[in-house]
Amino acid sequence: MVINKGEKIIKTCGIVLLGIKFKESSKILTVYTRELGKIKVMGQGVMKPKSEGIASTEVFAHSEFDLKKGRNFYYINSVYLIDSYHNLRNSMDTLFLGFYILELMDKTIHEEEHNPILFDLLNKALMAIKNGEEPLLIAVAFQLKFVSFMGYRPQLDICSSCGNTNSQIWRFSSSKGGVFCEDCFTNEATTITEEQRLILTKILLTPFDNLRSLNIKKENIWKIYNLMLNYISYNFDIKELKSQAMIRNGITSDNHIT
Ligand SMILES: [Zn+2]
Repeated sequence: MVINKGEKIIKTCGIVLLGIKFKESSKILTVYTRELGKIKVMGQGVMKPKSEGIASTEVFAHSEFDLKKGRNFYYINSVYLIDSYHNLRNSMDTLFLGFYILELMDKTIHEEEHNPILFDLLNKALMAIKNGEEPLLIAVAFQLKFVSFMGYRPQLDICSSCGNTNSQIWRFSSSKGGVFCEDCFTNEATTITEEQRLILTKILLTPFDNLRSLNIKKENIWKIYNLMLNYISYNFDIKELKSQAMIRNGITSDNHIT
């Protein structure tokens, strides 16, 4: 890409959500950037063996981009790797749950909607997994925090119908966006325990790197993961993501969280 004098260079940091090979040595990237939101980036020649762009345009890479806006894509003028998050590839748990977080961003967010809070949320989630936090717990926390930032924070503190705060058993309704007490049960909702309701709130309010201190049992984490899958699927109108099949087939409920 030849940049003419006077053409505006846009500086932004971004995390690569997806990369598709294009022609011999180029890639079309989907990048979630802090300054521009989700954008499509043409990485011309980034797959050439000696290209400095190889590592900085890999999926998961957090990089600083100098971009020029074209008709259909942003084009890379230069790119500098900040963090490859490479160790997420070291196990199936971290890889698949990391993919899930990226795919969730890719499939639910429209292009060029600027939201630096979402960028920071994504970066903190990947950082927590990189630093050895339990990946499923981070993914669940990401689900809850993400939907809340997107305007779909579920009603978890009181019954969505009568305002009751005391109930031993609750139901969580994806369509109504909250919990219902035992007096107000609706049929299309999923039953959750009082403990699970409290855990939902705690996960939502706890920073990624403190989640471990909540000592949440693995069956409760899986329960909330599945609850949030349904909630996200309903509210964002997305079908099953590719990473969900990977998680289902590659991660059993017994081989993590001890
Ligand atoms: Zn009620």
